[in-house]
Amino acid sequence: SERIRVGIVGYGNLGQGVERALAVNPDMQLVGVFTRRPPATVNTLSDAVPVHSMEELESSDGGIDLLILCGGSRDDLPVQSPKLAAKFNLIDSFDTHARIPEHFAAVDAAAQAAGKTALIAAGWDPGLFSLNRLFGEAILPEGDTHTFWGRGLSQGHSDAIRRVPGVKAGVQYTVPSEDAIARVRAGERPTLSTREKHERVCYVVLEQGASAEEVSQEIQTMPNYFADYHTRVNFISEEELRRDHTAMPHGGFVIRSGPTGEGNRQLIEYRLTLDSNPEFTASVLVAYGRATYRMNHRGDVGAKTVFDVPPGLLSSKPMDELRKELL
Ligand code: NDP
Repeated sequence: SERIRVGIVGYGNLGQGVERALAVNPDMQLVGVFTRRPPATVNTLSDAVPVHSMEELESSDGGIDLLILCGGSRDDLPVQSPKLAAKFNLIDSFDTHARIPEHFAAVDAAAQAAGKTALIAAGWDPGLFSLNRLFGEAILPEGDTHTFWGRGLSQGHSDAIRRVPGVKAGVQYTVPSEDAIARVRAGERPTLSTREKHERVCYVVLEQGASAEEVSQEIQTMPNYFADYHTRVNFISEEELRRDHTAMPHGGFVIRSGPTGEGNRQLIEYRLTLDSNPEFTASVLVAYGRATYRMNHRGDVGAKTVFDVPPGLLSSKPMDELRKELL
């Protein structure tokens, strides 16, 4: 059968991850990367992938079945997703949880009018974790859901420490509390404060002559980012930062615990341990992108989320084969 022709919009970490993920999905074909930067300045992993300007995308449909949007959630996707859904099937990884309803509405209006299908907020959180929270609540209506993130690199918190005077470079990891996880797993159903669930671990390179004590203090008391957490600040050399802290690991747990019947305890746990957050998120986008394209073929148009996708559509295998192998 025909391969699904895919375009990547925006070529940062996620865009690169999508290029890699498409290479291991033979039913899908990367036809080009579209960027807001001058195309000649963007180097894709494979020389065979053409890079085009966004204007070229807007002036033709170029036989593209699906766009995978890889821009940032704060400034890029709120503009790009509604605009492009007026012309293309697409998927994005919009992750500003509080703004998902308004993003959905804007994309839905455009996609409905055009007869296109646009899946928003795919990835792992939101995305796979959202699905697992839904399973847990539907199956154990009397339980509690706990999401723990990490150990993982947080881009926003890393940016925040880099803005502190005296800091030359640095990264921040969100680390879930082992003690809190153990209590949830034991079915204790604890009420956990922000501080009890996660700690923040920073690795900082100081500017020449800066005071470690002052920098530590400044980070630990920063409102919104660090003040509500137990924050540890470690000082390292530039060489150590380069050697040990350039990967983008992440992951976490969704745990639902609750009783059934006469107080029997039931526990559901879903865990991700990721060496590379962008490569994993990209892999999720490719599988859900396949499903998005298929939903459009079935006439199921408008904005969608992972909640709307029948799982069988994610697989490259036909349904009769899935029933034989996986049921
Ligand atoms: P990046 O900052 O690497 O890339 C975002 C955009 O920046 C690119 O699409 C690119 O667009 C633009 N850009 C501008 N200058 C450069 C440059 N010099 N090098 C690379 N890109 C440049 O972000 P990520 O790819 O790491 O993440 C994208 C989004 O993915 C995040 O904002 C987050 O919302 C989402 N995400 C969602 C997850 C989930 O589970 N749902 C998990 C992880 C991420 P252009 O080519 O047009 O210039």
